[in-house]
Amino acid sequence: MRQLIIIGSGPAGYTAAIYAARANFAPLLIASSVEAGGELMNTTEVENFPGFPEGIMGPDLMDKMRDQAIRFGTEVLLDDVTSVDFRSDIKKISTGSSGDFEAQAVIFATGSAYRKLGIPDEDRLSGHGVSWCATCDGFFFRQKTIAVVGGGDSAMEEATFLTKFADKVFVIHRKDKLRASKIMQDRAMANEKIEFIWNSAVTGISGADALTGVTLTSTVTGDTSELALDGLFIAIGNDPRTHLVHGQIDLTPEGTIAVSGRSSRTNLAGIFAAGDVIDPTYRQAVTAAASGTVAALDAEHFLSALADAHK
Ligand code: NDP
Repeated sequence: MRQLIIIGSGPAGYTAAIYAARANFAPLLIASSVEAGGELMNTTEVENFPGFPEGIMGPDLMDKMRDQAIRFGTEVLLDDVTSVDFRSDIKKISTGSSGDFEAQAVIFATGSAYRKLGIPDEDRLSGHGVSWCATCDGFFFRQKTIAVVGGGDSAMEEATFLTKFADKVFVIHRKDKLRASKIMQDRAMANEKIEFIWNSAVTGISGADALTGVTLTSTVTGDTSELALDGLFIAIGNDPRTHLVHGQIDLTPEGTIAVSGRSSRTNLAGIFAAGDVIDPTYRQAVTAAASGTVAALDAEHFLSALADAHK
């Protein structure tokens, strides 16, 4: 049995691993088979992570975090957790192809998943003109006309990035005001290739084998219109990835894992949570990393008390 297993390989998971490994707990970090590195793997330049005044590419930042965790003795497993049983003192974790693991303590840092519009044909045309990742798919839209849905920082970042490829990028937002930070708004608004479509919801997606356009519904008048497009990038936020622990760990009304005060302690002894999976508000790489630190220190406390009790 392991002392500590960390599930998740974003800034929260890796930072927890760095701290726990330096405290000699030799943690196992289960990083997922295809999405190792978390959300920053789909980002371009990260300009607001302290210590990188020139900025750093998201994947490079995650590689550095992983290497730092390994340097101090973290074992990184590229596999998917398929189920967990956290209800007894021995925590059980099953994986897709590496078998089952047991631990005295677990840090759950599974992050969040892209939100969908929830309209017909969204899934069918995913990968055929509908995308959630500009850095992954932008290249396919050279000299095309595309749209980004959303009014937050992600939408601004994706729209600005996509102007490297596309001739025209619409930003479709359901309100007349953006949620994005001022610097990201200003950058998008100053870009000649970007045009904003305000007070509009995407209510339909058309295309037989590939996307050809969308139906827009005015959120003010209810009128509908058609917009011809080659690509649609959906950037409307994320939902915490909690499906593995439904029915085991208490959640908040926002759907994040509930933790006690400023700690990482969940309602189950020995189970700690960190990063976007507990944070409906800030959701920054830096805050996730800080949250991973809290979880590692809480887990260290718990494991030390456990060791003392068995002396
Ligand atoms: P946000 O939650 O900040 O924004 C989501 C946007 O999508 C909002 O404008 C929201 O509209 C809209 N939206 C939500 N649901 C729907 C829906 N069903 N249909 C249409 N529109 C919808 O998410 P982000 O992913 O943009 O950002 C998440 C966090 O990550 C933030 O804290 C952000 O600051 C951070 N981030 C920072 C970056 C950076 O600094 N470089 C880059 C990217 C993200 P409404 O405004 O009406 O609620």
